[in-house]
This record gives sequence, C-alpha cells and structure tokens, in this order.
Amino acid sequence: MNVRIRSAGAAAVLTLSAAALAPASSEPAAGPQVIGRSVQGRAITALHLGAHDAPVRLVVFGQMHGNEPAGPRVVAALARMTPPAQVQVWLVPTLNPDGAAASRRTNARHVDLNRNFPVAWARTPRSIYFSGPRAVSEPETRAALDFLAEVQPTAVLSFHQAFARVDNSHARSRAAAAQLSRLIGLPDGSVSCPSTCRGTMTGWIDASLKAIAITVELRSRVSGASAARAARAALGLGAWLAAPTSTAPPALTPAPASTPAPDVTPTSTPTPTSTPAPAPAG
Ligand SMILES: [Zn+2]
Repeated sequence: MNVRIRSAGAAAVLTLSAAALAPASSEPAAGPQVIGRSVQGRAITALHLGAHDAPVRLVVFGQMHGNEPAGPRVVAALARMTPPAQVQVWLVPTLNPDGAAASRRTNARHVDLNRNFPVAWARTPRSIYFSGPRAVSEPETRAALDFLAEVQPTAVLSFHQAFARVDNSHARSRAAAAQLSRLIGLPDGSVSCPSTCRGTMTGWIDASLKAIAITVELRSRVSGASAARAARAALGLGAWLAAPTSTAPPALTPAPASTPAPDVTPTSTPTPTSTPAPAPAG
C-alpha cells in the first residue's frame, strides 16, 4: 500500500514507497508532509525526525480528540528535540484538525475517530462516541491506517486527556508502558472501555501491526514543564526500545496477561471503568 505524501504547501506529490521512507540518513530533514485530509479538507501532517534507517520507528499522535489540546503541545516540544541514535520519530500533531478547530472531540461528521478503526468495530448510537456508519468511514481514520501501514512502526504513542494514566492494557505493550510510566511521571494502568474496546486505534495497531501501542492519558491541565517532560519521556522510551536494560524486560516480551497493574488502585480517581459514560479508551 502506498501513501501519497504531499509536501505541505507545495504542489509536488510524492508517493511514499520503501525507498522514500528510507533515503540515505544524511538526507536533510524534510518539513511536515501531508498524509491525508480531514472531512473539511484540512491537512493531516507528519514530521519526521532522525535518521530514516534508524531501527526503532516511533510514531507519536498528539491528538485524536479535538477537545484534548495537551498532546499537540507535547508534539511541538518533540519537534524541537533530536531523537537518540537508533531512533527515528514521526510526529502527527493532530489526526483530527476539524475537531481541533471546533474544540470538539469528534470530527466534522461527529464521529469519534477512536471508535472508527477496523478492529472489533461496532455501530454505536449517535453520541460523542459515535463510531460512524461503518468501520473506516472517515478520511482521518483512513489516513492513519495508510500511514501506519507504510511506516510499520516499532511503537505508537497516542496522546489523550484527561485520565492521567499510561495504558498498559495491551500485553504486547505492557513492559514499554511501565517504562514510559516511570519516565513521564504518570501511573500505568488500564484505560479500558466499559465492556470491550471497539474500533480503537491502539486495538488495531496491536492486532494488525503487532506493534507496541500505548495510549497516554495526560492530566486535564498540563504545564509547559509537564509537556516537555512528556516529550523527553517519548524519546526516552525510544532509546529504551533500542537497547532495553537488564533491569527492564525487553519490550517485546509481554508480561502474563494476569499480571496486576500495581500502580493502579481501583478506588483512585479518575477510574475510567466506573464512569457512567463510556469515556475511556481515549
Ligand atoms: Zn481522547
């Protein structure tokens, strides 16, 4: 599958191929590239940092829900940083530019993009969690699918607000989530849905790409220092993925599914599963 990448602000169209994604590492850094368009035609962009031949490929989505503004600030901080050796980073400030323009969770067709992915998709009643008329009905979802299929990431971070937690609900991602939890200063625990998570991006990544997929729920209020720490934590996770230490299990060795999440106390707030509305899972 090819992803047509347009240079932002330029007419030239570049077809992303394996060669395009892996030029000589000495090639100068390109600016943001357009990986898709929103319902209202806004550009969805991705910025690449680091060497294209670095073995660890980290993708960071700043935002899926337009009323969660902290993640794009983390991405903005990341854009000013240099990844560690062995790590390349793709930054997508927002997957939902229409929602961001309206300060709304959903996209312009009132679809919750994090219920529109093609794993365990189910039609839901119209609400702020509306899953859309069918899986991948939205151009923003398609953009993410094509982009991720092309990049074949080692790990994907998806920033949300405001449950103040690093999700460790995917067994494949648990060790990495624990590491990120320490680096970012948020507890790790399950950001689960009231029943089964349906149509989520991380669910699709976990099932289809077999990559590490971590939802990061930032706090409701994020200071500049906290955003910078989250950015450093993302790069720190990349370095850890490149060379896991002996004190931390390799990221690709999942812990048993029955392992409890020690940092989460069921009575602590916020507790997603006790929320009446199906708010969690991003
Ligand atoms: Zn969210």
